[in-house]
Amino acid sequence: MAANGESKHSEVGHKSLLQSDALYQYILETSVYPREPEAMKELREVTAKHPWNLMTTSADEGQFLNMLLKLINAKNTMEIGVYTGYSLLATALALPEDGKILAMDINRENYEIGLPIIEKAGVGHKIDFREGPALPVLDQMLEDGKYHGTFDFVFVDADKDNYINYHKRLIDLVKIGGLIGYDNTLWNGSVAQPADAPMRKYVRYYRDFVIELNKALAADPRIEICMLPVGDGVTLCRRIS
Ligand code: SAM
Ligand code: CA
Repeated sequence: MAANGESKHSEVGHKSLLQSDALYQYILETSVYPREPEAMKELREVTAKHPWNLMTTSADEGQFLNMLLKLINAKNTMEIGVYTGYSLLATALALPEDGKILAMDINRENYEIGLPIIEKAGVGHKIDFREGPALPVLDQMLEDGKYHGTFDFVFVDADKDNYINYHKRLIDLVKIGGLIGYDNTLWNGSVAQPADAPMRKYVRYYRDFVIELNKALAADPRIEICMLPVGDGVTLCRRIS
């Protein structure tokens, strides 16, 4: 992938979300890259050299998350699915000095690619990284009792086949008035394609889970929702009861 993210956009077929790749490039070059913090740029460029770079959060979505967290005055947050830490750094930079992020990923090695950059940016102290599957950690927090309704923001960007399971738990862990962001809810545009359309194997595999999630979120009376065509689609859920 090119360090500027151009090929990622076309490779994963996000074209349908905007009129053209040129328009996406315009957004990046006019509004995103000129204002991207140095540390995020460095992390983006390091990640671009990694073989799984398709997984990283795009720079425009990173900018969006950073702004959103500031708007809601988030202090206590969680991230499920860290990879090299681009969205994590966007979050950490937005939080106040005493802000906290409980960050979970089954793979520590990739997190360690980004960690020196995160530490150099002076925000490493906000992060509590736990290596391993997120679900048992959520179950432990629910059992514990003291974490109910404590999170201002949760960003879910991990195993799509577990999003429904995450939602069942996160709805109790996020504050009333707090937000959960589910990433990749447009799943490469496949959610609106017929089931027999040609798709990459991994896109096909997770497509039904994402479609089921989208239906479940739309029908859940405990939340207000807003699905944004940013990146690969992010659905914001505001807990109301
Ligand atoms: N948010 C990241 C970023 O900005 O670069 C991208 C995350 S990447 C799309 C998905 C991550 O979820 C991978 O790093 C993977 O190891 C992790 N993952 C997969 N299954 C998981 C699980 N059960 N619990 C926690 N993390 C998981
Ligand atoms: Ca994602």
